Amino acid sequence: MLPDAGLHSLTDLPGVGPSLRECLARLGMTVLQDLWFHLPLRYEDRTRLVPIADLIVGDAAQVEGVIDAVERGFRGRPQLRVAISDGSQATLVLRFFHFNGAQAQQLKTGARLRCYGDVRHGQHGLEMVHPQYQRLTGDDPTAVEETLTPVYPTTEGLGQKRIGTLIQLALQRLPDDEQLELIPRELRAGLRLASLRKALLFVHRPPPDADVTQLLAGVHPAQQRLAFEELLSHHLSLKQLRNAVRRHAAPALCGSGVLRSRLLHALPYALTAAQARVGAEIDTDLQTAQPMLRLVQGDVGSGKTIVAALAALAAVEAGHQAALMAPTELLAEQHLRTLRGWLDPLGIEVVWLAGKVQGRARKAALEAVAGGAGVVVGTHALMQEGVVFRALGLAIIDEQHRFGVHQRLALRDKGREGERCPHQLVLTATPIPRTLAMTAYADLDVSVIDELPPGRTPVTTVVVSNARRAEMIARIRAACLEGRQAYWVCTLIEETELLQAQAAEVTHVELSAVLPELKIGLVHGRLKPKEKSAIMDAFKAGEIAVLVATTVIEVGVDVPNASVMVIENAERLGLAQLHQLRGRVGRGSVASSCALLYQPPLSQLAKARLNVMRETNDGFRIAEKDLELRGPGEMLGTRQTGRLEFRIADIQRDAALLPSVQRVGEALLDGYPELAERIVVRWIGASARYAGA
Ligand code: ADP
Ligand code: MG
Repeated sequence: MLPDAGLHSLTDLPGVGPSLRECLARLGMTVLQDLWFHLPLRYEDRTRLVPIADLIVGDAAQVEGVIDAVERGFRGRPQLRVAISDGSQATLVLRFFHFNGAQAQQLKTGARLRCYGDVRHGQHGLEMVHPQYQRLTGDDPTAVEETLTPVYPTTEGLGQKRIGTLIQLALQRLPDDEQLELIPRELRAGLRLASLRKALLFVHRPPPDADVTQLLAGVHPAQQRLAFEELLSHHLSLKQLRNAVRRHAAPALCGSGVLRSRLLHALPYALTAAQARVGAEIDTDLQTAQPMLRLVQGDVGSGKTIVAALAALAAVEAGHQAALMAPTELLAEQHLRTLRGWLDPLGIEVVWLAGKVQGRARKAALEAVAGGAGVVVGTHALMQEGVVFRALGLAIIDEQHRFGVHQRLALRDKGREGERCPHQLVLTATPIPRTLAMTAYADLDVSVIDELPPGRTPVTTVVVSNARRAEMIARIRAACLEGRQAYWVCTLIEETELLQAQAAEVTHVELSAVLPELKIGLVHGRLKPKEKSAIMDAFKAGEIAVLVATTVIEVGVDVPNASVMVIENAERLGLAQLHQLRGRVGRGSVASSCALLYQPPLSQLAKARLNVMRETNDGFRIAEKDLELRGPGEMLGTRQTGRLEFRIADIQRDAALLPSVQRVGEALLDGYPELAERIVVRWIGASARYAGA
């Protein structure tokens, strides 16, 4: 075999000195192929100028115009507002919060600017916040770009321009297809995969005649070629991981069942048939001397917690410990409370270990864990150094999509003794269709809780324009005066936690003013953990009537008396996320309602998506509909399954590729393990491998 050109060090590219090398290494880039496969995150379309009158809120666009007015103001913080117009009967406001004197000098009435940025609603019509801009001088029209501009992932010290140049240099050393291709010809037969070399050149340097719509949507054949191989690499690495784990031994946990039956008797309800079935599947795994790797998928409210608690008891009965890890402190604390409620009466110690547990409390917790306390609940603090279990038999991870494979392995490693490792149980409410599950969770066996506990009244969902906000507030008043409670969820997509928190603060002030008779609480990600839990406790205890919240309440929060929810800007969220949020209501026996507030005008597609929420409460149906509706043109494609970080693939958009990915994956592992390995190294990197699996 020829030496792998892709593994050639990138240090002999012109201009790569020691400091740049270090910078690249921080991004995990050490060899040529790391640059070839450093793919654009997205593209900016600077190939045309959009008349201001035609701008669409939510889209990014390039415009050109003359400055009509400039205003410097201090509304809390210094800002510069620049109004431009282009003769299309409309004005666009450019707004800057960070600017220097030279910039302020440049932005003068009469100056001609070309800008690129996201269009949004401002106080006075459309605006762009911090657009990229260029001042045009002279009378000649400046040419627009001929091709789409790739936007790369960057890092401190390595800007967009620099990385783009480096990649172009690296591409000059791209070998021919024969050397580059790692999928054997016979396996490619019938797949109609584009040439890998051409695909790379295309995505890094889209030619002027490239189909812009296709490219922006990620469905161009060149992109699909790369997505195929990326999905394949993940599939292979998960399969390798699974095989490696299977080679280890695990303690066979054959408990007597005494504790479990005591808990079951103490519950005010009986398990649903689905819960019992999944429980039995877990039990069979636990009794085997091989590590369990099982994913329990169950819709929001299907009752995964009790299933997890029973599994934990099985471990305790067999003289082992169980750990339960949740992605947020809020959720972990809920679990702590629930588990203590169930396990204290059985005399089983439940230890709490989160980031905020410090000093003496932490020391005591660590001692309890090392001393063999039955159950430990916490956040990723469970995986930190210094946490030593006496005999971890079962690691449970809730809401898997918030964690990566690595974190899961790290927790498992806590319980490793030589060749023995604990069983693993992963809980998720993310409803993903089966083909997706087979790739996204290729390393896990899957159990599904496909039934909700009886007596739930389905949540009635309405889709309402923000213009009817006052009506929604009146509804909340009425519900709360009847003793119910409500959530008001403020959302901003892809904004910082700070902006989210500010939006929630504003709404909190607004609601407090119009609902003086009710106690209104506020919870967001920027509060101190102590403040957060104090507010959650008060809400749970019914002392707070309305909880204004950011999406921090998305997972796990369980307050059955809360029966009304309003979600602002619902059109900007993914359906899976809306479903998660809505799952916070409808937990008690009273009829619950959820209002999805949107900012008009609503596109046809957005309307169709929100209607799905109105029509069904079934998470699996919602996931499937979502998949159906996201045609290639759909740009909203947030990566809802979110468990895997992809460079170019989108597991939902590219779902059609998955059956071939699985087929080729099996064949590679069977017949060409070395090539399989090289594909994994190429995409996932040597450093990030699941070492020691
Ligand atoms: P999720 O699957 O979303 O984690 P939880 O475990 O939080 O769901 O359960 C949701 C609610 O349903 C809890 O209040 C729980 O006590 C209740 N519950 C769970 N199982 C049953 C059951 N079999 N019958 C009645 N209520 C149940
Ligand atoms: Mg849960």
